[in-house]
Amino acid sequence: MQAVVCRAPGELTIEERPEPERGVAEILVGVRRIGICGTDYHIYEGSHPYLQYPRIMGHELSGEVLEAPPDSTFDRGQIVVINPYLSCGGCVACRNGKPNCCTRIAVLGVHRDGGMCERISVPETNVYPAGRLTLDEAASVEFLAIGAHAVARSRLKAGARTLVIGAGPIGLGSALFASLAGGDVTILDRDSDRLAFATQAGIVAKTIEAGTRTLERVLVATGGEGFGIVFDATGNRASMEAAFAYVAHGGSLTLVSIVTESVTFSDPEFHKREMTVFGSRNALRGDFETVVAAIESGRLPLPRMLTHRTRLTGVVADLPRWTSEKKGLMKAMVEVG
Ligand SMILES: [Zn+2]
Ligand SMILES: [Zn+2]
Repeated sequence: MQAVVCRAPGELTIEERPEPERGVAEILVGVRRIGICGTDYHIYEGSHPYLQYPRIMGHELSGEVLEAPPDSTFDRGQIVVINPYLSCGGCVACRNGKPNCCTRIAVLGVHRDGGMCERISVPETNVYPAGRLTLDEAASVEFLAIGAHAVARSRLKAGARTLVIGAGPIGLGSALFASLAGGDVTILDRDSDRLAFATQAGIVAKTIEAGTRTLERVLVATGGEGFGIVFDATGNRASMEAAFAYVAHGGSLTLVSIVTESVTFSDPEFHKREMTVFGSRNALRGDFETVVAAIESGRLPLPRMLTHRTRLTGVVADLPRWTSEKKGLMKAMVEVG
C-alpha cells in the first residue's frame, strides 16, 4: 500500500509499504480522510520534542471498516472515527479512567506510525461509529475533541464569561464547545485575519486583538473583572504566562496547548484570585461522542474550517508548502481512495 513517510525533518516521500496485519481485537480500517494538524507540520519541520524518524504521520483519521473480529459490533463498510491515543489499560491514569494521559501513551502518527496511508489496523476499543457524519466530518472529530475535553476540564457553567486565547483549529474548537456549554465566549489572538475568520464563520461574536495593551483590553471587555474561564491554545509560553492576569478572582485557567519550556507565574497574583489551573491533554471517548453528537445536530460550522484539501500523493508537495503559506489556512484535509 501507499504511505506518506517523513524520513527525516524536511524529507517527505511517498513509499510502498507492506499491508498491515489485523491483530487480535483489532479492526482493519481503510483510511479515507486525514486531517493535517500543527503537530504534523512540527514533525515535518523537525520541531517536535521527542519524535523518532522515519514516521508515517496522521492522527486525525476517518475511514471504513474493511475487516473486524468475528464478535465485533462493527460492520464491513461502516464509516468510523479513529481515536489515535493508544493507552496501556494498566497504569495509574488508565486505572482511574484517564487513558488520555496514560503514562505509556502511544499516539498514532506521533509515537508510532499513523494513518497517512491506505490502510491501518487499530484496537477495536479505539474505533468509534461515525453516526451520520461525512468522511470529512469524521476526520475532524479528533481535533474538535481536544476542545471538548478542555471545556469539560474547565467545569464551565452556562453564562460564564469565557476567553479563548489562540484562534487556530484547537482554539476555535474550544470556543465552539464553550459556546455550546452556554459560555459567553470571546476569542483573543494577535492575527486579525484569524479573528475575522472566527466571527465570519459564526464561531464567536466577540474578539480581542492581542498587542501591546492586551491586558487593558481584557479588563475593558470585562468591566475590570477579568474572565471567569480562560483557555490557552496558543502553544506560546509568553501567552500562557500572560493569561494568568486575564483570569477573574475565583476563576480558572485551562492550558490546552503545550510548550517545552517551564511556565512561571506570580504566586501572589495566582493566590489572591484563588485561581484553578487545569492541564488538558488529548481527549476521552466521551469527548469524541460529544463531538459526533454536536456535528450531527448541525450546530458546528465545520465546512468553513476545512479550507484546504489534497490527495495522498499530493501531500509530499502540499504539506511542505503549507508550513510557510499560512494565509487562509485553517485545516487541510487529505483524501484517500
Ligand atoms: Zn491534531
Ligand atoms: Zn495507561
